[in-house]
Amino acid sequence: MPELPEVEVVRAGLAPAVTGARVLAVEVMDPRALKRHTPLGEGPGLGGHGRTLSEETGRGRAADFERRLTGRTLTAPLRRGKFLWIPLAVDTGGLAGPDTALLAHLGMSGQMLLRATDAVDDRHVRIRTWIEHPDHGELRLDFSDQRLFGSLALDALTPTSPVGSIPAQAAHIARDPLDPHFDDAGFLTAIRSRSVGAKKLLLDQRIVSGVGNIYADETLWRARVHPDTPGSAVSQRGAVALLHHLREVFGQALSEGGTSFDEQYVNVNGQAGYFSHSLNAYGRGGEACPRCGTAIKRVPFGGRSSHYCPRCQRLAR
Ligand SMILES: [Zn+2]
Repeated sequence: MPELPEVEVVRAGLAPAVTGARVLAVEVMDPRALKRHTPLGEGPGLGGHGRTLSEETGRGRAADFERRLTGRTLTAPLRRGKFLWIPLAVDTGGLAGPDTALLAHLGMSGQMLLRATDAVDDRHVRIRTWIEHPDHGELRLDFSDQRLFGSLALDALTPTSPVGSIPAQAAHIARDPLDPHFDDAGFLTAIRSRSVGAKKLLLDQRIVSGVGNIYADETLWRARVHPDTPGSAVSQRGAVALLHHLREVFGQALSEGGTSFDEQYVNVNGQAGYFSHSLNAYGRGGEACPRCGTAIKRVPFGGRSSHYCPRCQRLAR
């Protein structure tokens, strides 16, 4: 599943191609990729978020999405945590800021691919958007998603404190640790005041966004914290170290193009990232810990797995 570094690589890849581009046409090939899109006038919650939609609901969503996006001008893409969005410019002579965004949930296997207009289709393309950029000419922006946990949506932007705005669907999540307005003190308090395990806390998007299974395991390994150590048993210094290592692992993963562990994450050109070679704990069950040589343990964690070194990461109470 794409986490912060992967989504940031996609955002940075899209930026030069989509900023200032106009949407010429939109083709929804599979309305299931609009499961988080709510047509105008339809209350949220109708139709649900499942992987199936009735044929009528699907057609209605596709028509609404195509109509509302066609002809709009895209502005610079933004990200918070794993959420990626492109605000739509308002044609009022610059009097009003954007109030709507094209929001992309990448889910497990969603990809945003930039292609030449005559390029052969990638597999699993669900929504195709033709754009025209003043400098780069016409391009195709394809949303591909093999497993259909992701979706595109048009969503209203809502203001955030102290600056900026965010799609309503993402308004509940905390800023991510690469955001200059991230609340360090709030993070430290949130970690140290809770009795749940450190890994669960790192995965709680209300405390810090952008962290998934891979970067949680890597951060805990670097900080020498056991995944089940209660937040309340982490010292102030330990919590500061967690945040430091989280930023460090994100930064390194970004510079290596992200982690393509399950071969489902690729950048906008369809290329994999290299950070999977730099993983110390995640996916390394049974292999020697790079620090002490003890076999890395892999244990079940909420339907997935946790990977940690039983020697370097002792459970604290
Ligand atoms: Zn170790």
